[in-house]
Amino acid sequence: MTFTATRIPDAELVQINARFENTPPGDVLAWADKHFGARIAQMSSFGLEDVALYDMYWRVNSKARLMTLDTLRLPNETYTVIDQTKLRYKANIEVFLPEMTAVTNMVQEKGYNLFYKGVDNRKLCCGVRKVEPLKRALSGLDAWVTGLRRDQGMDRGRIGIVEWDQGFGLYKINPLANWSFEQVRKYVDQHSVPFNALHDQGYPSIGCDPCTRAIKPGEDLRAGRWWWESDPNAKECGLHVVEAAHR
Ligand code: SF4
Repeated sequence: MTFTATRIPDAELVQINARFENTPPGDVLAWADKHFGARIAQMSSFGLEDVALYDMYWRVNSKARLMTLDTLRLPNETYTVIDQTKLRYKANIEVFLPEMTAVTNMVQEKGYNLFYKGVDNRKLCCGVRKVEPLKRALSGLDAWVTGLRRDQGMDRGRIGIVEWDQGFGLYKINPLANWSFEQVRKYVDQHSVPFNALHDQGYPSIGCDPCTRAIKPGEDLRAGRWWWESDPNAKECGLHVVEAAHR
């Protein structure tokens, strides 16, 4: 990974974040787009936050870079919204696939549905299908844009709007950090943004098909992810490791 931008001094990062707490996401994106130039991209799973965010980003820069990880286990509804997004925004979506030899070896050794047989197996699968492709995707960037929100729970409650991502060695921009799910939904409806049909079937959070289910009323928004695992604090796949480098 080659990081080329100048690091923002800590004191300045604190000021930026204080200012951005009351700044609309589109203005945060405009700042980030100008600051990082061609070396910033949005990484999208095409969930509700991500489609709303790309609509905002596209209004700032119609050539904004959009990337996604295709784990090869996504629900068909996700592939549909990827196609719809491409059509709507004339977007050149940069798709990152897992490394095929690693997938083949994993499946031959452990089976296709290894993730149901223990957290270690699940993390192995996420590592092969998500984390390694993400590292490849981020390798040419100085910043990535995500649709993370603080009220999604777990460590996400501590995210900054602009933060240094220690795990991957670049900046992470979270313009929707202080938005609620309802605000995102309202934005999507108001702007007729194409969204994943599963959101209207009880899926607030959507990942790979075999690892996501609909949630029941009152359940945590991410309860449908890896629902068979008992630790609610372990519902991350290694893409988002929260560091406190924004305060
Ligand atoms: S979410 Fe499930 S299928 Fe997708 S990469 Fe992780 S363990 Fe594998």
